[in-house]
Amino acid sequence: MHLKSLTVKGFKSFASATTLRFEPGVTCVVGPNGSGKSNVVDAISWVLGEQGAKALRGGKMEDVIFAGTAGRAPLGRAEVTLTIDNSDNALPIDYAEVSVTRRMFRSGESEYEINGDSCRLLDIQELLSDSGIGREMHVIVGQGQLDGVLQARPEDRRGFIEEAAGVLKHRKRKEKAIRKLDAMMANLTRVTDLTDELR
Ligand code: ATP
Repeated sequence: MHLKSLTVKGFKSFASATTLRFEPGVTCVVGPNGSGKSNVVDAISWVLGEQGAKALRGGKMEDVIFAGTAGRAPLGRAEVTLTIDNSDNALPIDYAEVSVTRRMFRSGESEYEINGDSCRLLDIQELLSDSGIGREMHVIVGQGQLDGVLQARPEDRRGFIEEAAGVLKHRKRKEKAIRKLDAMMANLTRVTDLTDELR
């Protein structure tokens, strides 16, 4: 499985539809300052379901929509499609190629698609959950964060490795199970109290 291509349209500095094709192996994006290199990484985070404007270096989510320039009017929607090569069936879906699309309008309304079919964000999260590239699992190291990773305390560094290895999903499930158990224990205590009162 590898990321095959990314198409951005109306997303941040990419007013016109632009497609980047990635080959297996390392891809480098080079360009002058402010030319939109980080916007490519933001587009990948966004299409995978990022909900925090801050994580996308904006004040509000609407900031991802092309805001216009001196020569070009603002656009009403942003759209990103990430195409993943699935010829090794790493994703649990019967397609050799999987395209995930996210669209957002100025009204704040968002739409998601898998291979052109409307779906919920949850469907995308579930599809990618074992692949290591879901919203909370893909590892994107932003500018200036590299020093942080290198100088991290061993326990924090272990956190990065666990995230990359996909342990995070199991930890989240465990936390959810513990929360349910706590709620159950609270209910049990309440039932015991009521039974005692009725005696
Ligand atoms: P550097 O090398 O300095 O880090 P970069 O190539 O990573 O730069 P980005 O941060 O990706 O550049 O892009 C910044 C550019 O994107 C700025 O020119 C900014 O005006 C433009 N930009 C960001 N959001 C929008 C938007 N919503 N509409 C139009 N342009 C935008």
